[in-house]
Amino acid sequence: MAYVISSECISCGACEGECPTSAISNGGEQYVIDANTCIDCGACEGVCPVEAISQG
Ligand code: SF4
Ligand code: SF4
Repeated sequence: MAYVISSECISCGACEGECPTSAISNGGEQYVIDANTCIDCGACEGVCPVEAISQG
């Protein structure tokens, strides 16, 4: 299971640079995680200021 970003995302961009596989990108309305690229490392979860990232 890949990590997922909820609609709570405020598009701050903090998570994008934490991802070792570049699975996170700006999807327009909010940031999104590519489930096929995410390796479930959890690095992005802790940097989100609004706790929008969780394990899907
Ligand atoms: Fe990237 Fe790891 Fe977050 Fe998956 S869990 S999106 S691999 S930082
Ligand atoms: Fe959105 Fe959280 Fe990532 Fe910021 S760190 S872009 S609020 S998911």
